[in-house]
Amino acid sequence: MDSAEIPTKSETVGSGATRDRPLPGSRRGVAADEVRRHNLGAVLERLHLAGSLSRSDLTKVTGLNRSTIADLLGELTAIGLVEERPGGPNSGPGRPSPMVSVRPHRASVLAIELAVDSIAVATVGLGGRVFNLVRVARPRGRFSPEETVHDVAKLAGPLIDSLPAEHMLIGVGVAVVGITRRSDGFVHLAPNLGWRNVPIATMLASELGLGAPVLAANEADLGALAEHRRGAQPGIANLVYVSGEVGIGVGLIVDGKPLLGSAGYAGEAGHTLINPEGSACRCGAVGCWETEAGEWALLRRAGVSEGAGRLSEVAERAATGEERTLAAIAEVGRWLGLGIGNLVNLFNPDLVVLGGLYHRLFTFLEPSVLEGARHRMLAAPGEMATITASALGPDASLMGAAELVMSRVIADPAGFDDQGVRGRARAREGSR
Ligand SMILES: [Zn+2]
Repeated sequence: MDSAEIPTKSETVGSGATRDRPLPGSRRGVAADEVRRHNLGAVLERLHLAGSLSRSDLTKVTGLNRSTIADLLGELTAIGLVEERPGGPNSGPGRPSPMVSVRPHRASVLAIELAVDSIAVATVGLGGRVFNLVRVARPRGRFSPEETVHDVAKLAGPLIDSLPAEHMLIGVGVAVVGITRRSDGFVHLAPNLGWRNVPIATMLASELGLGAPVLAANEADLGALAEHRRGAQPGIANLVYVSGEVGIGVGLIVDGKPLLGSAGYAGEAGHTLINPEGSACRCGAVGCWETEAGEWALLRRAGVSEGAGRLSEVAERAATGEERTLAAIAEVGRWLGLGIGNLVNLFNPDLVVLGGLYHRLFTFLEPSVLEGARHRMLAAPGEMATITASALGPDASLMGAAELVMSRVIADPAGFDDQGVRGRARAREGSR
């Protein structure tokens, strides 16, 4: 199973389900184990999304009966992932339902984002609790993979050391602005970092020396995962995340699961055709979506030279109402909207979330994006889709890197005990 596969919330299976279809001998045992693992994951996912819920709410949202919930919570408590306390006086008539909460430190993740203009590192716990977050700006395309992993390790050390002693580090998640193979965290191409064929997960595992697994994936895919779990509508089943960096990245959640393709390369919508009469793209083709709606197109139309920090200039000029800048944003917004219209027709999402530079300039972009999208969208899927700015802003992909690792615990909470690296002492020991 892919590490980011999300157990489908609606598919919890009651404890009586196996009784309807008797299975011979050991098969029956295996099926019961699978049902139990699935249900444990479903309960933990609900708690991970909400942080805490009453037992009675858990019963409602999972569709499981009370004794099954009690049983599953017993196991999650024994593993140390959740804790219960008496319910408050305001939880309705009768005996208050106990409150169940996740224990964030018991499943901690080191999240890393390798972006075009910055690198970011955060420690994040179960329930999405951010313990610490550092982002540092970097000049564009100036750093080799070796220098980058060294810089990441320097930022990460103090963050890991500041976790409480009882923490359990379950893994490292990495968001990369490039085409990244999920199975081994191998970056085929990250043009804006100037990287080609970089085994970034292996390099980070070696440099960090934490003994925890390192998982890497594309930043837009992880932005989509974060918006799905932690965005404006947590758990929303059909979502398209459109990230504007130098290029355009798209991440897709379909029926509650990431749509990744065979190796994790799906969503390269920035290199789909939008304008046959358009300009040459750095991928070698002509008229790609990002040649009309990416950062370069925006800067060119606004008459601002390329480089780090230039977007701030565009935002400032737009805020003062400068005509050329506003016209440039409107033109880029129209192309952006046309591409979004294509995606709406293809995927019928409930939510289209705009991240990166589109999040930053959303106020100015919104009218022309909506106009462009309306121009392309078929009526039925168009009416269903809401186009909005990212709820997580600049940290969406970083949070998605944490969620990538959390997916493993949610997929198999009982197997989690063997996966983590216990405690600070061990983490330090490993880093030497
Ligand atoms: Zn292209």
